[in-house]
Amino acid sequence: MPGSAKPGLSFRTPLIFEQGAADRDAASLDPEDLPEVDPRSAFGEIAREVPPMLPEVSEPEAVRHYVRLSQQNFAIDTGMYPLGSCTMKYNPKVNEWAARLPGFANLHPYMPDELVQGALELMWRLEQGLAEVCGMDRVSLHPAAGAQGELTGLMMIRAYHQAQGRDPKKVLVPDTAHGTNPASCALNGLKAVPFPVGDSGIVTTSDIAPFVDDDVAAIMATNPNTVGLFETHIAEIAELVHEKGGLVYGDGANLNALMGKARPGDFGIDVMQFNLHKTFTTPHGGGGPGCGPVGYKAILDPFAPVPVVEQRDGRFVLDYESRPQSVGRLRSFQGNFGMMVRAYTYLREMGAEGLEHATELAVLNANYLRVRLGETWHVPYDTTCMHEVVISDRHLKEAGVTTMDVAKRLMDYGFHPPTVYFPLVVKGAMLVEPTETESRQTLDEFVDAMKTISDEAAADPDSVRAAPRITRLRRLDETQAARHPVLRWRAPEKRHEPSSASGETAETRP
Ligand SMILES: *Cc1c(COP(=O)(O)O)cnc(C)c1O
Repeated sequence: MPGSAKPGLSFRTPLIFEQGAADRDAASLDPEDLPEVDPRSAFGEIAREVPPMLPEVSEPEAVRHYVRLSQQNFAIDTGMYPLGSCTMKYNPKVNEWAARLPGFANLHPYMPDELVQGALELMWRLEQGLAEVCGMDRVSLHPAAGAQGELTGLMMIRAYHQAQGRDPKKVLVPDTAHGTNPASCALNGLKAVPFPVGDSGIVTTSDIAPFVDDDVAAIMATNPNTVGLFETHIAEIAELVHEKGGLVYGDGANLNALMGKARPGDFGIDVMQFNLHKTFTTPHGGGGPGCGPVGYKAILDPFAPVPVVEQRDGRFVLDYESRPQSVGRLRSFQGNFGMMVRAYTYLREMGAEGLEHATELAVLNANYLRVRLGETWHVPYDTTCMHEVVISDRHLKEAGVTTMDVAKRLMDYGFHPPTVYFPLVVKGAMLVEPTETESRQTLDEFVDAMKTISDEAAADPDSVRAAPRITRLRRLDETQAARHPVLRWRAPEKRHEPSSASGETAETRP
């Protein structure tokens, strides 16, 4: 395992600009068919004088370049990805087949409703399916991510209060919440009021009661919460907030523990987002495209984003007109349609029973890991968990090995690390979410790798601190990467010398 570099993870990987030779190409166009174009007559003054210095490579060189890049990334298609809260479950390939069907993939967003009845019907059916899963009256498919779904939901809550001549400003957010929750409040001009969660890891009515007053616009609840526990008091908490005129926002990122078992709409949630790229197997990461639909109760319908897909006389239409109090448009056109096709395909593949079974396996897998990892690692909330479990590396403190070291070492064993340093309420937290798509064998291999790392930390801490060893790049300076991203390639002085603009420094290059 460690030390044995995977095939393809070669350290000697020239950039595509450094390969090839003049006049080498990968295209086979018939020059007879191509009309001569004078760039100056087509583009005027902005036409280039000198052609751009693009790589001239053959087809195999181009293919190898991109395949090699894909191998330098960790992906759910290559290994277990237990990134807690993110639900990195397998993305079934049938979803890709459906999204590529020409009748979906080749649509133009300006086509009239009559010509896109199939697409509108798919959106309508997806809305019905999601509404059924979460117990909501309607669902808007516009938002492009979970975070944008939160923003949308809070905008609808604000519009709802304003329509009643009220303007409450506070949103109660537990201190275990995902960082996007307070950010969504701030973007809405609302004030996130954090409240502490007790030692049990869940919120009780008495924890929250002192914070609930007339100025509370909403409470944001994540259920199950980010320590992996079900909020058993949620219905009473919702009642308390409703009594004071507030609404309940549900962060639905953790729906993978509920599907087919419990519906947020039935335990008092008024509006929530789905993360289709988590629960509903659409691809995830790399900045999108994502899809974070918002489910809501009928009281919020007047404020829904437009356009809304409606069914009229057996036809589907995009309705822009009938909601004058709408929060407006959240996205260009109708959102990320390809993600809707994938999520709908998943819903149809699974059916109601399949979704319920997925939930059961997700929860079973997490509890299996809770017990097995608990043989070596500290489990702060050692009670039946939902789809994810928090462990901590408390026992490694003396060895001087950090949570980040453990995470990096896991990569040498072929696993993506769990979420680290989150939730903030647990010191040295690792939030492990196996999902239902991993087998018992893979879970055991993960437990073994974690046990080996724990042993290594005691016997030879430097081996853990020096990880990762087999990845193309070692530890990057994340602060520099975020503050000074290198987005442009520049020609190296000489060929085949590492370019200073390739994003690497002498230290990060193995
Ligand atoms: C992932 C996540 C979000 C945000 O969703 P994005 O799609 O990443 O914007 C919000 N809350 C929780 C609990 C999450 O896990």
